[in-house]
Amino acid sequence: MAKMQFKSESKRLLDLMINSIYTHKEIFLREIISNASDAIDKLCFIALTDDKLGMTRSDFKIELKLDKDARTLTVSDNGIGMDKDDLENNLGTIASSGSYQFKQQLEEKQDDIDIIGQFGVGFYSAFMVAKEITVITKKYGSDTAYKWQSSGADGYEIEECKKDGLGTEIIIALKDNTDEENYDEFLEQYRIQSLVKKYSDYIRYPINMEMKKSRVKEETKDSDKPEYEDYYETETLNSMVPIWQRPKKDVTQEEYDKFYQEKFFAMDKPVKTIVTSVEGVVTYKALLYIPSSTPYDYYTKEYKKGLQLYSSGVLITDNCEELVPEHFRFVKGIVDTADLSLNISREMLQHDRHLLTIAQNLEKKIQRELTSMLSGDRENYEKFFKAFGRQLKYGVVSDYGMHKDELQDLLLFYSSTEKKLVTLSEYVDRMKEDQKFIYFATGENAAAIDALPQTELLRSKGFEILYCTEDVDEFTLQSLMMYKEKRFCSATNDDLGIENDEQKDEEKKDSTALLTFVKETLGDKVAEVTASKKLVSHPVCLTAKGGISFEMEKYFNSVQPDSGMKAQRVLELNLGHEAVKTMESLIQTDVDKARKYAEVLYCQALLIAGLPLENPSEYTDLVCSLI
Ligand code: ADP
Repeated sequence: MAKMQFKSESKRLLDLMINSIYTHKEIFLREIISNASDAIDKLCFIALTDDKLGMTRSDFKIELKLDKDARTLTVSDNGIGMDKDDLENNLGTIASSGSYQFKQQLEEKQDDIDIIGQFGVGFYSAFMVAKEITVITKKYGSDTAYKWQSSGADGYEIEECKKDGLGTEIIIALKDNTDEENYDEFLEQYRIQSLVKKYSDYIRYPINMEMKKSRVKEETKDSDKPEYEDYYETETLNSMVPIWQRPKKDVTQEEYDKFYQEKFFAMDKPVKTIVTSVEGVVTYKALLYIPSSTPYDYYTKEYKKGLQLYSSGVLITDNCEELVPEHFRFVKGIVDTADLSLNISREMLQHDRHLLTIAQNLEKKIQRELTSMLSGDRENYEKFFKAFGRQLKYGVVSDYGMHKDELQDLLLFYSSTEKKLVTLSEYVDRMKEDQKFIYFATGENAAAIDALPQTELLRSKGFEILYCTEDVDEFTLQSLMMYKEKRFCSATNDDLGIENDEQKDEEKKDSTALLTFVKETLGDKVAEVTASKKLVSHPVCLTAKGGISFEMEKYFNSVQPDSGMKAQRVLELNLGHEAVKTMESLIQTDVDKARKYAEVLYCQALLIAGLPLENPSEYTDLVCSLI
């Protein structure tokens, strides 16, 4: 029989496959099995109308056979089969969809993504592990069976042969082992079993394999030295019905949790399991999980967001990034849709209309579920927020604040009056009648903020303050700008929108001379010196003027020490405070001492604001000279 040549495009691809250094070689099994499943689908459909076929749904199956001596792995199906033309057209040519991109990617060795799955070059992937492939097949409606055989790029042969029953048998003769690759792994029944579980668990037809097992010999059962014997038993390796296809009411939370832990290698239990099934313009089922703890690599580059994507039970990709927005990147799960072709390329996946619609639906669904958890299961919500609140805040800040409407009601901040986490809506609902702003204060932790002199007035007047203790907090509020028409206002702002009655008398007094004296003494260290409206018991505090706050200054200098980012310092003096009064009277009697007082008070203001002293030893000398 004459050797036939592959079409040129296919030949090149085949070359690549044969010499592939692709790391996921194992994927070939999924491809061959899913072809078998497709072939059964076709015959199954015909069986509905053709009584002569004498087959029903339950007769269909896929069989795997391992032969260690011959070093072959055989995948058989009783599906539609192929005739001579089919063999030439289907196995002699590669479906051209995406094959060019596929080659490019393979050449670029992007082996961490599942390019084979994405490009549907299925059958040929077997050449990554095979030195020869034999296909024996008989098509529905034909009496003749054919054998197709190829050992790679130099072509293939087709001849008539004998075969009982319809369907296709793919015999993969494995490559010889090399120092780098051990192809014998594909002859190990447990390895094959686990590959089927991993990639083809939810194929709707049974995937059977004769498993070699061991048991105690019957006649030695009761003796002291039981003897063992091998025996063979056919096992169905796949579970056929995926958990997300089962009605929600039939699945226990334990089963969902177990699946989550096994599938996503998670240690925690999800705080929320979302099961959703949609039929309409797009049809899909999704099973989503919201984890309860932050994966250790969550804030690193290693963490990959995305959902597993299946098309009618066949895994297309482990990580379809397009399915979840960045701000919900902690969500794990699975989407199964029939509206997607297995042959879809990476490029197409990104722009697929169905997929975009699914992603939009899921985003809304996740948002609704989080909202209902917040109102109905606060304890779990707080657990979730502790793990991923930072992510939601980043979500508010990123993309120019595009998602803030969606996310703002999911945020929690620690409240000075409630002593617990509160939502913005809860804050606004209990705002005082004369309260203009939503107040917030920034610091290392709640205790440090409690001690800030700037918050004194607000607290003495009973205003609630939100505490910003994470570096992203202040940016988040600044991105929001307003909530329910109330502006956010930092406790360190010049204007808090309130009057401090007790200080009115002091304010009325002309303090220009004192303020000018202190400003002249401190020079460029401060932009301005003012009479404070907000200090009660502390003598001084620093506030920031302009767009940059102290927390931003600290943050930017921590990520980039030479950023030169500096908030404009305004030193506020509490004119009613004894220390300030003493300084003022010293201006007349002992101006040197008055200058030292001004320096000391400024340093104290720096310390309280959590800012570094410019010269700590100078400061201690100064204090000592006064003692
Ligand atoms: P794809 O499955 O993406 O079309 P493949 O290279 O995997 O690409 O397969 C090429 C074609 O060969 C299939 O579309 C199908 O028509 C045919 N084929 C492959 N395996 C089988 C099989 N087991 N039974 C019947 N036809 C098959």
